[in-house]
Amino acid sequence: MTAARAARDGAPAASDRRPAARDRGPDARDGARSSRDAARSARHGTPAAKDEAPAPARVPAPEPLPAPALDAHCHLDLIEQPEAEVLEAAQAAGITKVVTVGVDLPTSRWSAALAASTEGVFAAVAIHPNATAAVAASPAQRDEVLNEIAKLAALPQVRAVGETGLDYYRDYAAPEVQREWFRAHIEIAKQAGKALMIHDRDAHDDVLAILAADGPPERVVFHCFSGDAAMAGRCAAAGYVMSFAGTLTFANAPALREAAAAAPADLLLVETDAPFLTPMPHRGKPNTPAMVAHTVRCLAGVKQTGVADMCALVTATGERMFGPW
Ligand SMILES: [Zn+2]
Repeated sequence: MTAARAARDGAPAASDRRPAARDRGPDARDGARSSRDAARSARHGTPAAKDEAPAPARVPAPEPLPAPALDAHCHLDLIEQPEAEVLEAAQAAGITKVVTVGVDLPTSRWSAALAASTEGVFAAVAIHPNATAAVAASPAQRDEVLNEIAKLAALPQVRAVGETGLDYYRDYAAPEVQREWFRAHIEIAKQAGKALMIHDRDAHDDVLAILAADGPPERVVFHCFSGDAAMAGRCAAAGYVMSFAGTLTFANAPALREAAAAAPADLLLVETDAPFLTPMPHRGKPNTPAMVAHTVRCLAGVKQTGVADMCALVTATGERMFGPW
């Protein structure tokens, strides 16, 4: 990717999407791990040599926010530290609600189970577009997988169907396969009455066209929004919520800040996509939900509002998308 392209899309450098090496002991998550690791590498590319990976050192805690806020999208299963520790740090920063997101069946089950048992944690379930080709070898298998996603989506603690969508940046699944799965997920979200959480990478036109053709669910969130001001305008016209990740804070992402400036205040969310996309000033280090505080402050600056007002704004939008909570 060229620097200009990265700047235009607000897309992260490859290093931002590479989690630290994992050497945790056995725990309940191990059952899902091989599938998760495969999904992770499908989503984010093959991990580079260890010496290029970010050090697993703890990142300094952000200054606590003046009012409660949320992390609208993260992957708690991929974070090195135990969930309890991660969630405690998030609370200390003012992040009282966290949506943890599945990318295949094992991680979707895991997210639903954690959300069922943990205060302040909510789940999203789906097959990530980059995992679609790998999870089903036949139409029958595809239907089985989608049935289970639909069952999980109906659970009360599951508040979104996602991440689903289109990823034309990677080629782990053919575009027509991705489109078929995306449409199936749209249907599941409508059936379950849950928000649709979209992964859109280099696929703005097709994502919007499919939503318009099939009819969107009532609540649509573009996770890690990567469009420019024009794309923000198209999303706003349709009432879609734009969730900004740490990319908003990157020096090479002026177009993304212009998009956020153009977006209506009541269609904004914030997220980490942890353990990826750590915001400035800690870019390149492992990300956790607490770090969304940096993105909230950045967004408040972009929108020229107070930080407490921005907290209230994203909390209200979060509740409209994923609540009641
Ligand atoms: Zn994600």
